[in-house]
Amino acid sequence: MRYLVQKFGGTSLVTPELREQVARKIITAKEEGYMPVVVVSAMGREGDPYATDTLIRFVEGINTEIPLTALDSLMACGEVISGVAMVATLEKNGCKSVFLTGGQAGIITDDRHTDAHIIEVNPRFIHKYAAEDTIVVVAGFQGQTEEGLVTTLGRGGSDTSAAALGVALNADAIDIYTDVEGIMTADPRIVKNARPIDMITYNEICQLAHEGAKVIHPRAVEIAMQKNIPIRVKCTFSDAPGTLVTSISDNGPVEIKRDRIITGITHIPNVTQIEAATSEFPESEHPQLKIFKSMAAAGISVDFINIHPDVTIYTVKDEVAPKAVQILANMGFSPIVTPHCAKVSAVGAGMAGVPGVMASIIEALSAENIRILQTADSHSTIWCLVKQEEMEKAIRALHNHFKLGN
Ligand code: ADP
Ligand code: MG
Repeated sequence: MRYLVQKFGGTSLVTPELREQVARKIITAKEEGYMPVVVVSAMGREGDPYATDTLIRFVEGINTEIPLTALDSLMACGEVISGVAMVATLEKNGCKSVFLTGGQAGIITDDRHTDAHIIEVNPRFIHKYAAEDTIVVVAGFQGQTEEGLVTTLGRGGSDTSAAALGVALNADAIDIYTDVEGIMTADPRIVKNARPIDMITYNEICQLAHEGAKVIHPRAVEIAMQKNIPIRVKCTFSDAPGTLVTSISDNGPVEIKRDRIITGITHIPNVTQIEAATSEFPESEHPQLKIFKSMAAAGISVDFINIHPDVTIYTVKDEVAPKAVQILANMGFSPIVTPHCAKVSAVGAGMAGVPGVMASIIEALSAENIRILQTADSHSTIWCLVKQEEMEKAIRALHNHFKLGN
């Protein structure tokens, strides 16, 4: 059986017309000889009647502290509704199809309700229906615990469902359908001439996704990568080829062209930079260790860490910054705090070993008078912290400088 997992995001499923277009994509795959396994997100965004956020608002109107097990059962409804809507659409088009919840599709998770991780997939029901030539439509974003309680997988969870099913079924590919023409060189809402990237490595897309590009969830990429199942990010509304995410191409290993130093620019807004002087504390007190242990104990996630002998610099999300600063003050630090910053990242496997990339980035940002508050680099990513109000200018400056646009 040549399985093809096709995942459709919420914006692709909102209206009957869009669902007809989705059905076309599924029927075409079937005609091409694949057995499609369809994974759906909840329809629409907040405000739409069956979107996940709308369901949450509804129950919050009753009680803001409902148990997470119950909340999970509610949050899983959005995908059930859109899955059934897709079965109805496929049947109308003469396609035998069946709806399965995540649990029925065999997705078993741990019991971290509302942010569960998949531990196992037993796709025996999918195999059974596929053998009967029936298209299976699976509710994304959900699974069940070993005891049978419904769980959800956190934001972007439908991408993870699709990747896990792709691996379990040893699918030919995992197609992620969305409202843009693939993975773009930058967020198209910020950079008007952003361009779809035709081919990208798992590592590059992981970096882009971790550093803010929300087009695909990094966990999904990590799962697909384990079995080398290609992911294709495509547009529901066009026949554009989209982006192929892989480590191998038809002709062997993907060659990252030397002229492509930077593949894409991504960003994370709303972070606060914290700078704590450690020089007044005796070495024996391990002040750096104390800082990070106390942040961890308070459940504060830290990022962009630079440790120097006299000073420790890191970032936290804006909303937890007051708490982080209070903890430091209680420990005797007087940190310098810079709120409302953004982390802008340039990602590209082609930068490894190429001299002058950092110089180019600094050149591009200085030409626009953008102040760089902090930087760090790895073999495939350069991170820059800038003030939030300069974020969009910084993204466009880098995008232009590396000639990523059309
Ligand atoms: P879906 O509902 O299909 O899962 P998402 O909203 O999760 O869609 O992801 C698609 C959106 O991600 C796009 O509409 C786009 O605005 C945004 N996005 C951010 N960065 C990028 C990027 N580098 N490439 C493509 N899309 C991006
Ligand atoms: Mg998404």
